[in-house]
Amino acid sequence: MSISTALEDHHKQLIQYFLHDGAYNQKELIDLIGALRDRYELRIKVKDEIRAFTEGLLPLINKHINQYGIEIKQVTSEEHENDVYYVCTQNFKPQFVKMDTSYTEKEAAIFEKLLELAITSDEKCVAPRDVFESILANDLKMTQKEFGETMTRFHRDKWIESGPNNTVILHARALLEMQSFITDTYRDYIYNCQICTRLLVRGLNCPNSSCDIHMHRSCAAQYFLRLSNVTNNAATRKSTYPCPVCKQEWSKDDVTSVLKVNHINDENNDSRPSTGVTHKKQRTTTTADNNDSTNNRSVRSKPRRIVNESDDDDDN
Ligand SMILES: [Zn+2]
Ligand SMILES: [Zn+2]
Repeated sequence: MSISTALEDHHKQLIQYFLHDGAYNQKELIDLIGALRDRYELRIKVKDEIRAFTEGLLPLINKHINQYGIEIKQVTSEEHENDVYYVCTQNFKPQFVKMDTSYTEKEAAIFEKLLELAITSDEKCVAPRDVFESILANDLKMTQKEFGETMTRFHRDKWIESGPNNTVILHARALLEMQSFITDTYRDYIYNCQICTRLLVRGLNCPNSSCDIHMHRSCAAQYFLRLSNVTNNAATRKSTYPCPVCKQEWSKDDVTSVLKVNHINDENNDSRPSTGVTHKKQRTTTTADNNDSTNNRSVRSKPRRIVNESDDDDDN
């Protein structure tokens, strides 16, 4: 496949969308590519949008926008390992807050407090009520209604998502864009994934309390899948899932939950030829169907038209 190296109109439009909205889940991206396909008569097959994006459009776009300190990156949710997002990161923005510049100082302060409370808690999540009380205690004047609207916007813009027991947790987008801030400020509260070595806030941890091994759910799924293949090859039905370092057996619940979500288990091995990687994009449609339907009800079905790029883009 020959790829033109110049940006065409549909590439430029896609860049504008990303600059405006910041992040998309897979379903939103499929809708967006679909709209561009109709408008520019692109030869992208239905159900092939994600592959067309990650293998064709994205590398070319990144090649052009990198010189401006902008890059579109793929990131997987820590909470739901099949949720994949595409985030427009802007390195020229100040260290904190790397949020949309349309957020007010007050809103950014709320987010900063939310982030602190979530990261420093044991479960890495926070009840919205605790955030509200904390900002009131910090003399930030705000009504409950204003606070609720701000939280809704954080959800919509993918800075937070729903956590367990009516809490909120930091969205994969926030972890990606604020990675260096989080790493510098909360070094003692965060982890590095044993498998990919990247920042980890909420993931799976070794059941051995004296072992400090943590893994992303998506990384754990790949690790346990490798182990389960080895076990199968050895023709024994008894799977063991030892910690990669201390060798203590990991919780069966943890293991089955990550393997199940990835549609992989010992009994029912997929008949598809294995490529050696658990590839999410083969299940694009299912993933997209499940995506965000529970967490985020404000997902647009159609991408907005962008009137004027300079309205939203403060690159000074
Ligand atoms: Zn990892
Ligand atoms: Zn361990």
